[in-house]
Amino acid sequence: MRCAAAIMVSLALALGAGPGRAGPAPDAPIRVVYDRPAHPESLAIYHRVRKHRVLERLREIAAGMRLPRSLTLRFSACRGEADAWYEPANRTVAVCYEYVREVEDRVPGAAPRAGGRRRDAVFGLIAQAFLHETGHALFDLLDVPVLGREEDAADQFAALVLLELPPAQARAVVDDITRLFRSLAADGPPQAALLADDHGLPLQRLTNLLCLAYGADRRAFGYLVAGGALPRPRADLCEAEYGLALSALHTLFRRHLRGERLERARVRRAFRGML
Ligand SMILES: [Zn+2]
Repeated sequence: MRCAAAIMVSLALALGAGPGRAGPAPDAPIRVVYDRPAHPESLAIYHRVRKHRVLERLREIAAGMRLPRSLTLRFSACRGEADAWYEPANRTVAVCYEYVREVEDRVPGAAPRAGGRRRDAVFGLIAQAFLHETGHALFDLLDVPVLGREEDAADQFAALVLLELPPAQARAVVDDITRLFRSLAADGPPQAALLADDHGLPLQRLTNLLCLAYGADRRAFGYLVAGGALPRPRADLCEAEYGLALSALHTLFRRHLRGERLERARVRRAFRGML
């Protein structure tokens, strides 16, 4: 996912500015936009995500913060490119319809089946992508300093939001993300370019997520350790890792949050009926 612009902005802010602005918390709107694609497969996704009000649901989560400037959440047609990004110049979080198609290809069962009630696995994966990019957006809009790799921080933001879901839903999303990252990891051994990327390797990003999940709820996610997905030496550190990340989130975002803390009810409302 391309995030270089956001990195430059956040780096400049981290080096040159304080963590926030003075004065009363402003409250700018969050717009949602569904670009209408021409490609038939993307068009089918367009109709589906509009029907399920996917962006309106994700807006509900982002609206847990008061923003000083408007933000746009957008589904875009990207001429075949399966991507997602945050663009600071127009304050837009965008996910390509092509990215949704790739996710559906990589995670069999995520695509909708004809007839009958089904778990919309792809929603959790779309949500993870939007929340990751929304993390970049919030670091930028709220002047949140980032120490360490911004990509890791954005992953942490998305994970902490998703782990506010009830245990069964959180497990479902974590399991779907596991399938996606394992599929990405199976593309081949890491090459030099991949090792130099601003993102961690897929299995590193996955293990970080699993660690936060286990750290958040050892009972709900104990199967990750028992099944070997999360090695015991790392698992022993995860409660502390989760606590550190959650504490950082609340410290950095406290004065921007609409409620006292990240609103669990708001997150759960956004996912209702989708998993
Ligand atoms: Zn990113």
